[in-house]
Amino acid sequence: MLKKPIKGIIDPTGTITREYVEDYIRQLLPPDKGILQQLKEEAEERHIPIIEPEVSALLKNIIKMSGTRTILEVGTAFGYSAILFATAAGKKARITTIERDPNYTEEAMKNIEKAGLQDNIKIIHGDALEVLPCLEEPFDMIFLDGAKGHYGEMLDKSVQLLNPGGLLISDNILFRGMVASDDLVRRRKKTIVTRMRQYLETITSHPQLETSILPVGDGLAISMKTQEETE
Ligand code: SAH
Ligand code: MG
Repeated sequence: MLKKPIKGIIDPTGTITREYVEDYIRQLLPPDKGILQQLKEEAEERHIPIIEPEVSALLKNIIKMSGTRTILEVGTAFGYSAILFATAAGKKARITTIERDPNYTEEAMKNIEKAGLQDNIKIIHGDALEVLPCLEEPFDMIFLDGAKGHYGEMLDKSVQLLNPGGLLISDNILFRGMVASDDLVRRRKKTIVTRMRQYLETITSHPQLETSILPVGDGLAISMKTQEETE
C-alpha cells in the first residue's frame, strides 16, 4: 500500500524548498570553475536539466568523503555532472555514463574532451534499460538521473552493481513536490509520480539499502548498500 501523500501548498516556482532559501544558498556557494561554469550557463540558456548547484556541492563532498573512484551515471545530457564527478574523484576517477539521445551523446563527448577527461569518463550511447544488464564491473557510486518513471526497473541491477558500502544516489525524486502531494500532481505526470512513490517505498524498506531522502534540489535519495548480503 502506498503511503499517503500530504496535502501541499502549490508553489508556482516549482521548487521543493522555499525559493528565498534556495536563492540564499546559491549566493553562498562559490561559482564553478572553467568549463563547468560555461556548461552551467549554457544549460540555463538551453533549459538542460543539469544537477542544481546545491546538489552538486553535496555530491562533490560525498565523493570526496567516501573516497569514491568508480561511478556509473544514467543520464549524461551534455556531460556537466560527469565532468563534475570526475573532477571531484581525482586522477583515478573512472566514470561510466549512459545517454540515449545521440545529439547529447556527441555534445558530451566534445565537452569531456575539452575538459581533458576523456581517459576518465566513458560514455555509452544507448538506453540504460538495455545497457545496464550488460554491465558487470562493480561501482562505488551509481547516480540515477535519467527518465524518472524508470528508476524502479533499474534498481535490482543497480544494487547488484554496487560495491558493499557503495552509494546509490537517485535525483529528482520529489519531482517539484508532486511526489509528496496529490494537490500538485498534473494529470499527465500521474504515472511518473505513482512510480516514483513506489520506488521510494522500495528503497526505504530494501533489505540491502540504508536510505535517506533529502529535500535538496529536486529531491535526492542517498542509499548505501549494506556490507552483508541479507537476501
Ligand atoms: N546528469 C546530467 C543531466 C541529465 S538530464 C547532469 O546533471 O548534467 C537527463 C538525461 O537522461 C537526458 O539527457 C535524457 O536523454 C537521458 N535519459 C533519460 N532516460 C534515459 C535512459 N533510459 N537511458 C539513457 N539515458 C536516458
Ligand atoms: Mg536531475
